[in-house]
Amino acid sequence: MRRMLVLVAVTVSATLLLAQSKTLEIYVIDVEGGNATLFVTPSREAVLIDTGNGGPAAARDADRIMAAMKDAGISHIDALVTSHWHGDHMGAMAELAGRVPIRHYIDHGGNVQPSQPVDTFLQNVYPGLIAKARHTVAKAGDLLPLKGIAWRFVTSGGEVVKTPLPGAGRPNPHCAGFKPHTVNPVSGQPVGETEDEQSVGSHVTFGKFRALYLADFPWNKEFELMCPNNRLGSVEFLLVSRHGQHSSNSEALVHALRPRAVAINNGIRKGGQPETMHVLHSSPGLEDVWQAHVAQLSGAEHAVPGIFVANIVDDPGHSPAHWLKVSAQPDGSFAVTNGRNGFTKTYATPAPR
Ligand SMILES: [Zn+2]
Repeated sequence: MRRMLVLVAVTVSATLLLAQSKTLEIYVIDVEGGNATLFVTPSREAVLIDTGNGGPAAARDADRIMAAMKDAGISHIDALVTSHWHGDHMGAMAELAGRVPIRHYIDHGGNVQPSQPVDTFLQNVYPGLIAKARHTVAKAGDLLPLKGIAWRFVTSGGEVVKTPLPGAGRPNPHCAGFKPHTVNPVSGQPVGETEDEQSVGSHVTFGKFRALYLADFPWNKEFELMCPNNRLGSVEFLLVSRHGQHSSNSEALVHALRPRAVAINNGIRKGGQPETMHVLHSSPGLEDVWQAHVAQLSGAEHAVPGIFVANIVDDPGHSPAHWLKVSAQPDGSFAVTNGRNGFTKTYATPAPR
């Protein structure tokens, strides 16, 4: 009898363990104001969006991506989505590809914004990488096939998804006050056809949990995507566009998405400006803003409590670097953990919104 009870106990705990591992994990890796975000699905498929910075920072950012991979217990990348051809999003690609197998490369197509290091990479290095793997040019509306996950590209190559996602498509009341940008308020440059407009945006559904990352998709394009009807609906978790700069992140996007928690892949002096923080702090239903880095540009008025901030050191070479980790359940609940201090907050399953 006792042996049977032990057997039952072992079976129950093994089942519980199995149930616990059925999560979608998202690592927002600190690459000092660039992007590298690792998704690990319940079937342990690994999708990486972007590879951080290049040049002298490539080894550092590849190290940081590999640290997240090690934590997740994965040794290869099933799909690498390069959101666009800017150095803070694709810089460490060759470095990473030299260290771990990357099975599938996804991008928006050719570079539209001439830049010598990027064009040299695309001419001399990228063809060799994709020759040994699959390569797909993403179109808005395409699905990335994964087990148990609906991964949709909602923007790519300057286009936005035309058909509303399941359950979405209602008129967006936050379009009314939208004011288009004629110049980029951060750089002062006229807005237009840069690589940012080309960003591959990913919408990820796991049961009732939904996450969105539009990379550096700019302000005026947000209107195209979200107005007059909200084609994306609401999300539980938003990785904030453009490192938390106000050249993206209109109310028409953020307030319409109604995220419960957001994370910003900012750098210490990149992103987190008061304009964006105001949009985030006033977003209906938003509980918390998490940050990859302390944001000097927020000022005391808009700063988030340090407990939500993964890195507080003003030294781009600092080691170790800490991530934010999201663990999502199919019932729509999720937890966010700060890799630096171990602080975890659980967002319990909400009532239908
Ligand atoms: Zn960027």
